[in-house]
Amino acid sequence: MSLLTLSRPLQKNNHRSVRLLALLLAMLVAGFGVFYAVSPHKSLIRRRMMPGYWILALQGKTLYDPDLKILRRGNPDLPEVAITIDDGPRPENSIPMLDALKAANARATFYVVGKSAKAHPELIRRMIAEGHEVGSHTNEHLRLPTLTDAQARNTLKNAEFNVRRATGGYRMKTLRPPGGEIDARTAKIAKELGYTTVLWSATSGDYESQSPDYIVQEVMDGAENGAIIILHDAHQGTVQALPMLIRRLREAGFKLVTVSEMLERLPSS
Ligand SMILES: [Zn+2]
Repeated sequence: MSLLTLSRPLQKNNHRSVRLLALLLAMLVAGFGVFYAVSPHKSLIRRRMMPGYWILALQGKTLYDPDLKILRRGNPDLPEVAITIDDGPRPENSIPMLDALKAANARATFYVVGKSAKAHPELIRRMIAEGHEVGSHTNEHLRLPTLTDAQARNTLKNAEFNVRRATGGYRMKTLRPPGGEIDARTAKIAKELGYTTVLWSATSGDYESQSPDYIVQEVMDGAENGAIIILHDAHQGTVQALPMLIRRLREAGFKLVTVSEMLERLPSS
């Protein structure tokens, strides 16, 4: 038998396997499309499609990075979530948010700007008195990686001073870097000053003014065990969304905890 006669059926087979492979691939893509379209957790799916997520996953740091003390998400085996509220205190929004939390007997973590804490110390005192956690959002809402070492230390220490003075000694343990911007250098500075840097795993889309329904929908989309939810106290939509959000999270079976409580219950690796 010559080579020529052998290669013919082989070629035919090759074409058939390529077609089969293309068909399988198309089915896979279509299947994923349908799965994504009907999924109530689109933001979770999108997050897990990011290369950055897989880089962290390979290092085992999707929840917590013990070297830099960066928390991204709590224990995935526990049905608990942490509501975090950035950028306050701002009386017009912080007060109704505190009222809503109190009415629902729910606790949150407020990431406050030091100079605003200095301007409204009574709100920081109320946050603590009502069982919430207060964390640092720097003194002037500065993007840490843009600062020199000395500037980064200063803004963290000044925020600490303002919160201590407002409260008669409360010591903040966690830091939310403005804009979520942190690098190894500034994370080390934060760690030296005794902070755990806390990022988030569930967004609310409330960086700009949004309707309460939209905010609740966005958060519920990213709600999962150990989720750290980021809200801002800048807009009315968020203030109005908060009571509904607490109710929906509880209906979905989640317990609301502070970030430091979440940190205490990370899985031991
Ligand atoms: Zn902020």
